[in-house]
Order: sequence, then C-alpha cells, then structure tokens
Amino acid sequence: MYLKPTTLNEAVSLLASTGGQILAGGTDFYPALGERLPQGTVVDISALKEIRGISMQEDHVRIGGLTTWTEVIRSPLPRCFDALKQAAREVGSVQIQNRGTVAGNLCNASPAADGVPPLLVLDADVELVSASGKRRLPLAQFLAGNRKTLRRPDEVLVAVLIPRRIESAASTFLKLGARKYLVISISMVAAVVQTDADGLVTEARVAVGSCSATARRLFELEKTLVGLPAKPGLGSSVSEMHLSPLSPIDDVRATAEYRRDASLTLVRRAIELCVGRL
Ligand SMILES: Cc1cc2nc3c(=O)[nH]c(=O)nc-3n(C[C@H](O)[C@H](O)[C@H](O)COP(=O)(O)OP(=O)(O)OC[C@H]3O[C@@H](n4cnc5c(N)ncnc54)[C@H](O)[C@@H]3O)c2cc1C
Repeated sequence: MYLKPTTLNEAVSLLASTGGQILAGGTDFYPALGERLPQGTVVDISALKEIRGISMQEDHVRIGGLTTWTEVIRSPLPRCFDALKQAAREVGSVQIQNRGTVAGNLCNASPAADGVPPLLVLDADVELVSASGKRRLPLAQFLAGNRKTLRRPDEVLVAVLIPRRIESAASTFLKLGARKYLVISISMVAAVVQTDADGLVTEARVAVGSCSATARRLFELEKTLVGLPAKPGLGSSVSEMHLSPLSPIDDVRATAEYRRDASLTLVRRAIELCVGRL
C-alpha cells in the first residue's frame, strides 16, 4: 500500500498504525530495492511542508529533515556551514541533490554518507517525532553503526539542530573518490577551526567518514590543536596517532592502508584550508 500524508500528525499516526516504511526523496530507498518492489506499506512523507526548509532560531539553526541538498546549497548560512554546503555539492549529481534529503542521508546511515562528517563537526542533534512524542539525540549517538541508527520504525527524523556557538569559525569539507564527480568516497574529512583575537585556536573539530562503520570525530587531534597559532603549517600537527579512532576496511574502492594514508593527507589539508580562510 502507498500512502502520502500531508501533515506530520497524519504521517506519524500512519506509521504507528501500519508499521510502514518511510519514503522521502527515494534516492537511497529505490536503489536499495534493486529489481524488487517495496513490501508492505510505504509512507511517502515528501508532502510534509512543515519539516522542510532551514530556519535561524535564537540559539540554534534548524534544518528540516525534508530539506534537500540543493536547498542547503542555496540557503544563506553562517561561515561554519561552509563544510556542509561543500558536502551538499558532492552528494551524487545535481539531480540527486534536488531530490535527496538531509534526513534520508542520515537515516540511511551509510559509512560514506557525505552529510555526516560536516554535521558531526557542527555538534548537530537530531529531533525525532512519533505518535507517542518527541525526542532529541546527538547525531553521533543516533548513528549506531553501518546502516544502523537509533530511530524507531515509527519515528520521523523531523529536524537537525545545530547550536549557534561557533558561527564565524572557518570550515571545510574534502572528499576523495576514484573520480571527481558522482562518486562514493574513499575517505572524506570535515573540519572547523575557531580562533581568538590573538590568532590562537580556541576550538577545532575534525571528523572523518568512510573509514569506520560511522564517521568519527578525532577528539585527541582536536585537543592538540587548541591553543596553537592558526598559521600555515598547523596541518603538520596532525600525526598518524590522531587517526587511531578510525578502522578503515579493504573494499572495492580502496585498501585500508590507502584509506589511512589518504585520510592523514586529507585531514592535514583540511586544517590548512581552514587556516587559510580565517
Ligand atoms: C546516483 C546516486 C548517487 C548518490 N551519491 C551520493 C553521494 O555522493 N553521497 C551521499 O552521501 N549519498 C549519495 N547518494 C545517496 C542519497 O542520494 C542520499 O543519501 C540522500 O540524501 C538520501 O535522501 P532521500 O530523501 O532520497 O532518502 P530516501 O531514499 O527517501 O530514504 C533513505 C532512508 O531513510 C529513511 N528516511 C528518509 N527520510 C526520513 C525521515 N525524515 N525520517 C526517518 N526516516 C527517513 C527511509 O525510510 C530510507 O530508509 C546517492 C544516490 C544515488 C542514487
């Protein structure tokens, strides 16, 4: 059965009563089916205008779950969102960016989801709504593993919430694939660097994707960078030891060894790029 509610209330009560699966932009949903037809009930949430779009709240930025990557690219956002915008431009092709949504990318929970590292470095939370209520979780906790999240089947991811703490920080996103365009990453890095009036790093956040079951923050590296002068050469403070939270695998795209080596270069470059943007 195919159902297309027009309000969030209707959607969550349909999910509760039918146990249906959610369809948003369909850019992960349909490829995952291959030649098969969907089984059971499909609840198409693409008409829920109330969970689409980006708004600036007093203490956070709210990105509606149904916001497409094209909308992220086109929205005026503070500088710390540059990495997210760069990632949005790397999600598949323009056609995919027009259909694919932020929540779909997070709920699909691919280790190679381009939206995840930039949202991890923005300390994003996700808001989930079901017929029985609303809850909020840090994104890092929500992503429980390869294709696994803490979402209950009757919950809709209605928004991503980003605290407005480091809006003027420089940020960047780098993606390495086997070709330039329309590619699944071998490794990707998002970084944010904030400095004080003396040019010292007050906050640094770095996340690497495609090198573990879910993208990982490099907290030891972040601590190392704080207090250092944000000058060219800062990237050389990154050592192999800082990548220890990663657990890359060998697969068709790259060997684990190549991934680790490439990630070290990407992280160093990302830090240098942030410094250049301050
Ligand atoms: C050709 C191609 C290239 C691609 N390239 C990339 C790429 O480079 N980088 C990348 O990261 N991704 C890529 N993707 C994957 C995909 O486009 C993105 O992950 C996209 O953001 C998914 O969003 P969607 O709205 O299409 O999700 P859907 O396909 O509609 O849904 C995906 C999953 O999330 C669930 N879901 C969707 N919305 C919600 C919600 N609001 N609440 C709860 N559950 C929900 C669905 O039930 C489903 O399980 C590509 C896909 C294709 C087909």
